[in-house]
Amino acid sequence: MDPVLLESTLAQLGQPAFRARQVWEWAARGAQGYAEMSNVPAALRDELATAVPFSSLELVQEAFSTDGTVKALFRTHDGRSVEAVLMRYHDGRHSLCLSSQSGCPLTCTFCATGAMKFGRNLTAGEILDQALHFRREHEVDHVVFMGMGEPMMNLDNVLETCRRLPAVGVTHRRTAISTVGWIPGIERLTEEDMPIRLALSLHAADEQLRSQLMPVNDRYPLSEVLAACERFYAVKRRQVFVEYVMLRDVNDSALHARQLAEVLDPTIYKVNLIPYNPTGMYDGSPRATIERFRAVLEEHGLRATVRLTMGRDIDAACGQLKTASEKKSRAELDALRAKVDRLGS
Ligand code: SAH
Repeated sequence: MDPVLLESTLAQLGQPAFRARQVWEWAARGAQGYAEMSNVPAALRDELATAVPFSSLELVQEAFSTDGTVKALFRTHDGRSVEAVLMRYHDGRHSLCLSSQSGCPLTCTFCATGAMKFGRNLTAGEILDQALHFRREHEVDHVVFMGMGEPMMNLDNVLETCRRLPAVGVTHRRTAISTVGWIPGIERLTEEDMPIRLALSLHAADEQLRSQLMPVNDRYPLSEVLAACERFYAVKRRQVFVEYVMLRDVNDSALHARQLAEVLDPTIYKVNLIPYNPTGMYDGSPRATIERFRAVLEEHGLRATVRLTMGRDIDAACGQLKTASEKKSRAELDALRAKVDRLGS
């Protein structure tokens, strides 16, 4: 439900201001439709049902993992694909991974979403509707903007969504925005009143290697990104989570770990090592390599954990969010890589 459209529609209908809040609270608490809103007059409910779609997203498909993870594929009114994931942890946490864009304009070489065509920024209503979809079945308590897209390139709508999330059950402190290091966005989040957590996708401490993995590093080099994260910490006093995807023989040696430890101040950063879900050009590092990498970071006093992989069996794991029509086979990607290599040589 688009809360802004809801407010303007109710205002046009000459309704008192509390109505919008009333209707929105029903939606935020997981109502299945307007019919349930028993304290809203029936005639008004009918008018709303035509003027303000209960959801801006059409559910196309839902997949259920054996580990309890659920992935939903939606379509927007103009035919764009959007995916979102619910992760249910053993400790009872229900965490949502939301998309901020359909596709992504950045072309990180290891990411499946990065390989698909960029569609457009999602509206706040479309981002909220991903959350409301799951809220209709489960209570939810955490949100990470780690689905499709770069949230900092659509920050107005992402922040508008964050403002509405507490009503859905997710406090700002339990909301995290993950970025490739889009400096203007980090700066805005630093100025923002909401105590939202910042997560940085880092993946290589060496500028050259990072540029290979994430071309955006040429625009916003890591040294400048880290300076922006440090200002965020100075103002917010909240640790920044670093995401580091473990790519076999690419960024996973003990030397890479030492380089990472050199650039990260342990009071400011905590590292989350992500087992890579092979979606294309790279292989994931073996468990033992990830463990060794983690040990080197810890020797340098840097806290590091290895991310639990959830929903692999339904293509819902990190970086796998990419719609069926855009999925490329391994062979196609290998051919593409060979072509890129030829062009580069
Ligand atoms: N654009 C933002 C938000 C997307 S988050 C960002 O990059 O932070 C997606 C996270 O999943 C990023 O940390 C990304 O590096 C990671 N990721 C992408 N593809 C992956 C894959 N195949 N396996 C594991 N992690 C992946």
